Order: sequence, then C-alpha cells, then structure tokens
Amino acid sequence: KVRVRFAPSPTGGLHLGGVRTVLFNYLFAKHNGGDFILRIEDTDQTRFVEGAEEYIFECLKWCGIEPDESVLHGGPHAPYRQSERKALYKEYADRLVKEGYAYYAFDTAEELDVKRKEIPNFQYSHATRTGLKNSLTLPPDETLKLLDEQTPYVIRIKMPDNEEVSFTDMIRGHVSFNSSLVDDKVLLKADGMPTYHLAVVVDDHLMEITHAFRGEEWLPSAPVHVLLWKYLFGLENMPEWAHLPLILKPDGNGKLSKRDGDRLGFPVFAMNWTDPRSNEFTQGFRERGFLPEAFINMLALLGWNDGTDQEIYSLQELVEKFTMDRVHKGGAKFNYDKAKWFNQEWIKRYSTEQLKPYVKAALAEQGISIPDESKLDRIIELVKDRCTLLSDFAPQSSFFFQHPAEVDITAIKPKWDDKKQQFFAELIRTLELTPVWKHDDLDKEFKEMAAAHQIKPGELMLPLRIMLVGGKFGPGVFDIAEIIGKEQTIERIKNTLK
Ligand code: GLU
Repeated sequence: KVRVRFAPSPTGGLHLGGVRTVLFNYLFAKHNGGDFILRIEDTDQTRFVEGAEEYIFECLKWCGIEPDESVLHGGPHAPYRQSERKALYKEYADRLVKEGYAYYAFDTAEELDVKRKEIPNFQYSHATRTGLKNSLTLPPDETLKLLDEQTPYVIRIKMPDNEEVSFTDMIRGHVSFNSSLVDDKVLLKADGMPTYHLAVVVDDHLMEITHAFRGEEWLPSAPVHVLLWKYLFGLENMPEWAHLPLILKPDGNGKLSKRDGDRLGFPVFAMNWTDPRSNEFTQGFRERGFLPEAFINMLALLGWNDGTDQEIYSLQELVEKFTMDRVHKGGAKFNYDKAKWFNQEWIKRYSTEQLKPYVKAALAEQGISIPDESKLDRIIELVKDRCTLLSDFAPQSSFFFQHPAEVDITAIKPKWDDKKQQFFAELIRTLELTPVWKHDDLDKEFKEMAAAHQIKPGELMLPLRIMLVGGKFGPGVFDIAEIIGKEQTIERIKNTLK
C-alpha cells in the first residue's frame, strides 16, 4: 500500500512551497488509494517555535487536506512527533557505530570553533576527521575511557571516501553524488536526540513509507539518507524519492522568499503568521481573501499540469488526475496575478450560499452591519463577478448597506450643468410618485425622462451611479436603486443635489 508522509519541522508558518509539498504528497497518496501521514520532525529543539505545529494542522484543515495518521489522528505508528520517539533512535545509531559506519566524536564546541577559524569552510569530513577527537583517531582504550567518564559525545556518520552514491528520483531520474563531497553529518546529538538525518530514515522505515516527496532543498542531504538506508536496512523498502522543484520569484530569478512577498505586496504564507520570538508578521493567502480551493488549485499548477489546457481543478479532480511524471523538473515561477485569477474563477464557481459567510465576514471586518439580510443573496449575485479577493466584497457592496462617502457631483465629466440639475430635481418628484419599484420600470422611466429633457441617458447614468454608489463602479444602477429602495434612492440624490 502506498504510504507517503509530510514531515515538517515546526519552525514557523507554512510557505507556499511547504503547502505544495503537502499537496503533492496528499494527491499522490489519494490517487493511489494510499495513506497520507503527517509526522512532526521536532528533534532540533533549538529551532522549535511555539504555535508552529498548531499552524500546520490549521492550515491543512483550511486546505481540506486530512491526514490519515498524525499527532491528532493517531495511527498504528504513534507517536507521530519525533521528540516523543527519542528513545527509539539510539539503538540505530549504536548499531551504525558497532558496524563501523559511524563514530563517536568528542570535540567540544570550542574545539570546533578553533578549527573553523583555522580552516576556511571547515567541515567535519573524511578530509579533516583525522585531526579531530573521535573514535576513529583515538586509540580504542582512550575512546572507552572517555565514554566511561561520560564525556559528552555526538555520533557522526562516517562518509565513505570517493564512493558514488546514487538513486533514482521520480522527477529527476538518475541522481548521483560523490561521497567525498559530503561531510560527516551528526546523527545523534550529545543530549541523545537524533538529528533530522537519522530520524527521517528510521521513521520512514518504521512507518513503512513507500514514497518520500520533499522540496528540492533536501537533495544535498539525499546521499546521507541513501547511505543510512543502505547501512541500516540494506536498502530494503527504501522509499522512492522525489525532490520537488522550487517555487521561483516572479522574475524567475531564484527561490521565492518571504521578502519578495513583502517587497512586491503579496502573501507567501498560507495563513497569517506572527513569529513569537521576533513578533515579525507575515501575511497569509487566507486572510488576504483567498478561497482554499483557489489556493490549492493555484499551487497544484505550480510545477504540474495534466498535459491539457485545463486550469481549474477541484481537489477531488486533482486527486484523479495527479501523477508524479507530470511534475516538472525546473522551478515554477510564482505569479500573483495568476493566483488572483484562480481566486476570481473560484468565487464565480461558489454558490451564493457558500459565499455568504465570507461576505458577511468581509463586511463585518469593515464595520458594515447588514440591517436586512434578505437582500444579501441578490447583492452577492450582483457583485460576485467583480470580486477577485473575498475582501473585495466589502468595497463592492458597502453602498447597499450604508450611505456612500460624499462626492462632488459637479466635478465629474461630462460637465454638470443646469439642465442636469433640473433633470435630477424632476427625477426626485417622479420617483416619489413611482408606484412599482423594480429595476426595469425605473430604467424605462429614467430613459423616457431623459428623452423628454433631450439629454443622452448615458450622460445622466454616471451621475446617478455616483450619487447612489459614491464612485464609478458597481453593478447595474437600477438594480442598486431597487435594492436600496425608494427612500434611500431619493435621499441619496437629494443629498448630492443640495
Ligand atoms: N523535516 C524536514 C523539513 O522540515 C522534512 C524533509 C523531508 O521530508 O525529508 O522540511
């Protein structure tokens, strides 16, 4: 059975790239009738950030992605938080030492600092390890003595010298590394906690993971993981790897970063996030007014397509169509306008009923109260095509609920004159006597009056719109008049004429 995992470290909010990794894992699992596991990789306690784990769960929920196994969902391989699995890793590290694939290193932080100063770009590796304090260089009894005395140590992998380490990546094909270029990564830290490298391999094994998909930034670590798989499990049932292409800046020039978002004014996180350590705030797609379907749809197409021109997919449809062989090798340029286009398309596809809670929230956020909810359906239908973000519903519909900000009607073009002033004064009287208040009747009446006054209706429509709406936007002006009602319509015209 296919089993994939998303294995985030709870170090902060989820960036676009992180959510896309979740998505591709999930789509692959569900396409193949498999399980999607969420494992929290929190062995680096120095990078642990309060609230980050909760954020991940909330984000998945918002996106409509439900793990089959996780800290919250439980499962046959619990616990799913690595810090709670601490005791489990040591035996693997010890085994590696016993079999000569890893070694104890006793160097103190200060000693390593000295080395770093001496040797430019110092790495603990096959090239430098002889001059350092570890069980490969010390006489065996010395090592035993240090261990006996409980001298703090770490366990490092002994990277072989000049060996080719290779594997097949589902996206990149054959990938190979020269082991001499990789340093002797720490596997077990002095406090007994494993590092990511050991924990990821042990857990992928124990949790019977069949496919491991992660960001391209993990490619340099892959040789360490492949070697650990070889040393610990003889490569048996090693997951198939896929390293997902980067999401690039809009100009294609390097990896998209939080700073690009700040600079260019778009979100790069899924949801708002405030780093509790620095109080630094990062805006999210959700709060910016994106629908989860649009966000997911947009992400899926950053680096994948099904070979057709289709662009709009529901999550269910993505599950049906998603295959790894259609994921591109090259990075995918992020385009915020395109992201907004997806949102607009999804707003159009949402029913009025589905949109209603979002519209209410958008209005409430602007302090606009809705005295008569019975009109809300019609209002949503009238304005939804004009909204790109959910937040647009507030400016696009506020005038239905409250007076528009005052406008100077005489300043608009084509020029305001006495003839128009008279027309509107008479319009007020006519409207007061209008028996039926329906947009097509109002339209007819207005045009007949314009003809009688020998003014082109087009020259009068814009002023009327501005009187009712406060600007040159919005749906049909007589639809607006119908909804706000006779009293409001007349009052707004009067207000601008005085
Ligand atoms: N814990 C790693 C991260 O934070 C996961 C990498 C992997 O999936 O192997 O991205």
